[in-house]
Amino acid sequence: MSASLRDIPPVHEVLASSSFVSLLEKHPRDMLVAVVRTHLQTIRTQLQQGVDATDELGMERLAERVGETIQEQLQPRLRTVINATGILLHTNLGRAPMAEEAVAAASMAAQGYLNLELDLKTGKRSHRPDAVRGWIRQLLGSESATVVNNNAAATVIVLRALACGKEVIVSRGELVEIGGSFRIPEIMALSGAILKEVGSTNITRISDYERAITSNTALLLRVHASNYRIEGHTEAPSLAELVELGKQTGIPVVDDIGSGSLIDMSAWGLKDEPLASVSLKAGADLVMFSGDKLLGGPQTGIIAGRADLISKIEHDPLMRAFRVDKMTLAALEATLRLYLDPEKALQAIPHFRMLEMPLAVVQERGYLLARYLGNMPGVQVHVVNCEAYVGGGTLPASAVPSVAISVKCDHLSEEELARRLRLHTPAIMGRIEDGAVLLDLRSVLPEQDQILADALRHIVEPSA
Ligand SMILES: *Cc1c(COP(=O)(O)O)cnc(C)c1O
Repeated sequence: MSASLRDIPPVHEVLASSSFVSLLEKHPRDMLVAVVRTHLQTIRTQLQQGVDATDELGMERLAERVGETIQEQLQPRLRTVINATGILLHTNLGRAPMAEEAVAAASMAAQGYLNLELDLKTGKRSHRPDAVRGWIRQLLGSESATVVNNNAAATVIVLRALACGKEVIVSRGELVEIGGSFRIPEIMALSGAILKEVGSTNITRISDYERAITSNTALLLRVHASNYRIEGHTEAPSLAELVELGKQTGIPVVDDIGSGSLIDMSAWGLKDEPLASVSLKAGADLVMFSGDKLLGGPQTGIIAGRADLISKIEHDPLMRAFRVDKMTLAALEATLRLYLDPEKALQAIPHFRMLEMPLAVVQERGYLLARYLGNMPGVQVHVVNCEAYVGGGTLPASAVPSVAISVKCDHLSEEELARRLRLHTPAIMGRIEDGAVLLDLRSVLPEQDQILADALRHIVEPSA
């Protein structure tokens, strides 16, 4: 006979059953009560809809279901992802993976106490940014430097500390939106500075800036277009021209270079990536950039340049809200120290290793994977050429030659295959193209190849 609503046991009876002993040992009672209640409610609904849920009412079965639900609920929400998207600095995946040295420093800072705001020589209180100020000065040749939570915060605090209630001149070609809700005009409004747009989308000349200057002008701001390019008939003044105008009028020039490489990236085809040191040499009064884009460190915003301006910024009340935490600061210091020897930085920072890997090596990894996955019935695996991207606000047109494995399954749609890969532990993110899932190997850490292969085998096996 099939079960009826009267056969649904009360929650306390379920928890008193011998099948729940081990669950009660492992999990708090309140948690179990809530999950059991939900399960019983589901069964009630099924019965009301005329579904035969007799099997679901056994205590063993209930314990099994409740155990599974709790397992799933207790999974961390943040999980490791194998990045097979081909985008090396993927904002949704945490941008730059950090060098081991930076990971160790963050871990050191997390585990115990450290001299975050203490001068060990004098025993007196110090300032948090002191830990990185010297390294940045040394690497960039700047007079001073400071650090905040990210480059968006750097923009806000620079504008607020140096131009609140005053005008900031920006070219219309540079009023960019950089992902999510970061739009220059909105940031400007938020900071209390007054935006003075000059020129047009494609053409802005130095004379446009010159004409816009009034006694209320506080800054000349240049913003790197980062994630887009205007092709064709374009014109913008050089930084040197802006600096010259700034010198004549006594107005500081601020250069937001966005991804802030410390190494000349032209060897990898990233010809337009501005260097902070070049901006400062050209005479920019301040330069700012992100720590977790091309630099390869933790999420931070670095501001470098004139000591008097940096001091003003550090005395702004917002500094307290924007300051970085101890783990971030430690990781940033360790990352910066790697750059004292650029060769070392190139070897230690994961995205540089990914960029530097010869195409033939990526290809070889692809063939190995394809061979390992070969001969599964109903599964087609191919090695295909594709293009990877640096991402992180670098030139959108600068593709890096790469190799992907393309996977198609007779018994799974490409969406279902991609979904199962995402829900795997560790999660795997690829992209869907022409009915197949493409897994770009340039952005995959080589030590993850085997994990990727095993996961794929497990997921595409028809019995799975
Ligand atoms: C990425 C970027 C920002 C924002 O930096 P976050 O560190 O992500 O806050 C600001 N300006 C430019 C030009 C950028 O490329």
